[in-house]
Amino acid sequence: MKTLVAIMLLSLAIPASAQDEPARRPAARKDGPWFGVTLPPRAGADVAVKVGSRPPRPIAADAASPEFNGAAIKSDVETIVGFAKSARAAKEIGNGQMWGRISGFPSSQKVIEWAADQFRKAGITDVKTQPITQDEKSSLWLPMSWKVTLLGDAAFGAGSNDIVLESALPVSPSNLPSGSLTAPLVYVGTASPAVLQHIDVKGKIAVQLIVPQGHMLFERGAVDARAEELVKRGAAGVFNLVRLPGNELSRDFSDCGNPCFNIGGRDGWFLESVLDRAAQSGMQDKVRVRIDLQTQTYRGLKAINGVGVIHGSSNEVIVLNAHADGWFEGAGDNGDGLSVLIALARHFAKPANKPQRTIAFVASAGHHTPGINGPRSFLAANPDLAKNAIMLVNIEHVAQRNFSLARTTASDGYRESVADSGEAPIAVGVTNNSPFLQELIDGGPARFGVNFISERSTFQSGETGGWATLPVAKVSVMQAPPLYHTTGEVLDVISAPGLERIARFLADFVKSVDRAPTARINPAKP
Ligand SMILES: [Zn+2]
Repeated sequence: MKTLVAIMLLSLAIPASAQDEPARRPAARKDGPWFGVTLPPRAGADVAVKVGSRPPRPIAADAASPEFNGAAIKSDVETIVGFAKSARAAKEIGNGQMWGRISGFPSSQKVIEWAADQFRKAGITDVKTQPITQDEKSSLWLPMSWKVTLLGDAAFGAGSNDIVLESALPVSPSNLPSGSLTAPLVYVGTASPAVLQHIDVKGKIAVQLIVPQGHMLFERGAVDARAEELVKRGAAGVFNLVRLPGNELSRDFSDCGNPCFNIGGRDGWFLESVLDRAAQSGMQDKVRVRIDLQTQTYRGLKAINGVGVIHGSSNEVIVLNAHADGWFEGAGDNGDGLSVLIALARHFAKPANKPQRTIAFVASAGHHTPGINGPRSFLAANPDLAKNAIMLVNIEHVAQRNFSLARTTASDGYRESVADSGEAPIAVGVTNNSPFLQELIDGGPARFGVNFISERSTFQSGETGGWATLPVAKVSVMQAPPLYHTTGEVLDVISAPGLERIARFLADFVKSVDRAPTARINPAKP
């Protein structure tokens, strides 16, 4: 009895979730459905990243600028996320499985109208929305409805019923003219062509494994090349098992053979286990999947940009930009950036903060919808502002909390992820490498606590690409978090103090640039 009490106390003192877990799958039971492998969680049952009760690293309050209060900015992020959630509830796209703030649809239009309204409420008088029509040669592919069903078989153990892989998301431009396909699965993992020559993928769905080193963007080359190779070898389709935190839908990768799906972390973990057990039992050809898929291709879509201009005594223009479109909730891509843009508009609209130069705030239609590009449309519609521009700042993915793999695993043995008390690293690119701008950025971590990476950079990425023809310094402020373009990028992973840190840094940065001679911002090329 004494021993039992002691064991009970010990287990109370160390909750199961706090113990270190070795990285391995739980031993499969001998009997039970699906070879005894632990079934994957239902969609939304578990979060991708655990956010504990310990708050993020704070920032000392600045009573003079309440517009930069982190909690206030975060409530704007919540409003922006709300536009995406409403679009989902209203089934803006198909049956509502695909959603977000999608340029060309009301979800994007509404958030930009709301942003323009915030510019007006801040006291900016020159505010307008400007129409955009999708480029004639471009189209947007969207999935209307889909289902990926792993087909049950009593041979896998009694009670092996069909299982829907709820994290599956078709990759652009997957299409199934017949609407449905049933085929066996074959696992290829990360096989190179030298290994692939030994695997017969003909007529099967090839299952490849992707373990992103950062975000999915970094994997596009390898994923697309292998998928192409698999289809060349006769694969009927490809599954990308994306080993990211949780069990999320991810909108990335393309052109990988028809049809192709991304599968979330824990569904993929389950599928790998099942394929292993099947192979060990000599049933590798018995594991089959049914795919149902309806898609649509859109042309002639219409969108808007929201533009607010604070006119200074100088015609020279500083352009501040944030894209408003996003996949799923898009709290970090780019709800946080757009909220920070609005906070900056409120700040510079105050008479006490009136800039000498002109500042143009652009709530952009973004760049996710092919043929709709907010920056390019802005440049075409505002030749005077473009001609007088001296610098562009693109605010994109700026305040997500950092997270890393946890010491704990979920019930299926999949490693959990947990947020820490800081923000994910922020890369800052200055296209012209102006020493003056780089020095201002170098001072950011010490003065405002922003988590800038240690290396100076001239990179431009994402939304900044649309500004390419603007022949001035283009500054990109950007995190590259693994969960971008996934359903895991939710409001909970946005850091309120992080929003405040980057907003206050950017306000100070813009003020310094506003007072600086043009030659320091755009030094003549040697
Ligand atoms: Zn983005």
